[in-house]
Amino acid sequence: MKIVNSIDSLRAEMTRWRKAGERIAFVPTMGNLHQGHLRLVEVAHQHADRVIASIFVNPMQFGANEDLDSYPRTLQADCDALQQLRTDAVFTPTPDIIYPRGLAQQTFVEVPELGDHHCGASRPGHFRGVATVVCKLFNLVQPDVACFGQKDYQQLAIIRQMVADLSFPIEIIGVPTERAADGLALSSRNGYLSAEQRAIAPKLQQVLQQIKQQIQQSDTDFRQLESEAKAQLSAAGLRPDYLNISDRGTLQPADSRQQALVILAAAWLGNTKLLDNLEV
Ligand code: AMP
Repeated sequence: MKIVNSIDSLRAEMTRWRKAGERIAFVPTMGNLHQGHLRLVEVAHQHADRVIASIFVNPMQFGANEDLDSYPRTLQADCDALQQLRTDAVFTPTPDIIYPRGLAQQTFVEVPELGDHHCGASRPGHFRGVATVVCKLFNLVQPDVACFGQKDYQQLAIIRQMVADLSFPIEIIGVPTERAADGLALSSRNGYLSAEQRAIAPKLQQVLQQIKQQIQQSDTDFRQLESEAKAQLSAAGLRPDYLNISDRGTLQPADSRQQALVILAAAWLGNTKLLDNLEV
């Protein structure tokens, strides 16, 4: 596995692959890899001759009071895990490689209709940072295929929209969420949870499953379901940020069982934000 950390060496390697007629799959991550990320790599192998991952904790997508400095960085273990999965290359740039002009960067990618609510409402600028860095990484790697987790449902929708709007010739593959045995969606931030919080955390997915059943069984008012579910999360010791029964395509509030639905939710446990979703 090649470890590349400069743009020149990245481009040289990608050019070599492309000249050999090889199809390239890309898996962007922020590192601290778990089975969810590794699943993306496995799926990437099914769609291409070569797989490249990136590990970059992107400062642009973190707000001023968020965990940029404390975000877990485990580069050696991540590279070992990627190598075991026969990853062909990993791009590990530092922030000055990706943002050579620092905050003076003038060009950003925004997807406002999909990005302003749910996670975007409490994290202004977050999805602008995500879309901008993914756009840059796509320009650097120029993959044929890129894999993203359905765990970050809103992010996946935004990337799909960006790819369509900006005419990237890249196939986007959404990969189902990997979970612990008790249902908790795997996340790099789960490592922040105390043993007591870890025991409470699966409640988020349990509540989503329960709402799904209620929706399937009867014509209940969705706004009422949302507020009951949030009350349940609060009673279990979580602090709900949002819980929205939404239209899968637009991510706007849904009000009918005739629509293709997804329930999107985020809740705090202490200082850790848990994110999950469930399609109905
Ligand atoms: P991150 O390192 O958190 O930026 O995530 C990198 C990629 O891994 C994103 O496409 C995420 O959606 C995906 N991912 C994170 N957690 C999971 C999971 N539990 N199952 C599947 N994909 C995941």
